[in-house]
Amino acid sequence: TGTLPPITVPLKKPQPWVQVVGHAGSFHAGDYGMLLKRYTEGEQQCLQRLMEDSLRPFVPGYHGVVQRAEQDYNMMDDLLTHFNSPAIMDCKIGTRTYLEEELTKARERPQPRQDMYEKMVDVDPEAPTAEEQAQQAVLKTRYMQWRETLSSTTTLGFRIEGIKKADGVCNTNFKRTKSREEVMQALQDYVGCNALIVKGYLRRLKELRLVLETSDFFRTHEVVGSSLLFVHDSTGKTGVWMIDFGKTVPLPPPLTLDHRTPWEEGNREDGYLWGLDNLIDVLTDILPH
Ligand code: ATP
Ligand code: MG
Ligand code: MG
Repeated sequence: TGTLPPITVPLKKPQPWVQVVGHAGSFHAGDYGMLLKRYTEGEQQCLQRLMEDSLRPFVPGYHGVVQRAEQDYNMMDDLLTHFNSPAIMDCKIGTRTYLEEELTKARERPQPRQDMYEKMVDVDPEAPTAEEQAQQAVLKTRYMQWRETLSSTTTLGFRIEGIKKADGVCNTNFKRTKSREEVMQALQDYVGCNALIVKGYLRRLKELRLVLETSDFFRTHEVVGSSLLFVHDSTGKTGVWMIDFGKTVPLPPPLTLDHRTPWEEGNREDGYLWGLDNLIDVLTDILPH
């Protein structure tokens, strides 16, 4: 009598942020759906400019620099916020994952590198040339270019960096996933053969491609080592965003890129759109015909 039934407030548990690849120490989950990534000036410049560009809907919202324990961070939206137990995939886009300036620098001081020789032999004992075997060392430039040929980066213009399934199982073992068939298999496994998810991703990727083709930011930047972050959950919700602008650099005016012309040293082309074209093709092929 007179006592009211207890009110039950449905409490939505905040989703913990999870990281698929990248340097583990570089990130902190912030409050209110924010993510803090260790500050670099180049990335800040990109995120700032992207907030004024037609690409804005395709990148995490950027909220400036904050300090935690004496370290600066770029604060951005956590893209997982509105998903429930999401499946996540990080795909690195482009035919080249080092900057032209890294190649130039490596060439200025050509030093035979034993550590890189060992890494090479670990992956493929046949990879070093007779001369490299005799030296038990390789040049850094040679190592950088060899590494690109292991995955689908050179042949398809994108590679899978990591996948985290809804059950929490994480796989970052795609360094040698190279052929179109292997990539297709991994993508199929990621989407769990759900055609609606694939269609959602394709719609978004095609919208992104249209915007990229007219974006001022994109035309005037060499975009290297940047990823597309794919997210979906069991409700069928999907999203794709561009992330990681640590190696995205402005071009000296009036140079611009079309992002499809094959790379030749000096032309700065990164194969980003060519890779996106291929990614769209491969995803289209996993739909039932
Ligand atoms: P690397 O240069 O080795 O690729 P990095 O330290 O530059 O790594 P990022 O590539 O930016 O880091 O991010 C690493 C991972 O963190 C991504 O694969 C993704 O799982 C997660 N991540 C990055 N940015 C966001 C974001 N805005 N929202 C949600 N998750 C993110
Ligand atoms: Mg990255
Ligand atoms: Mg990076």
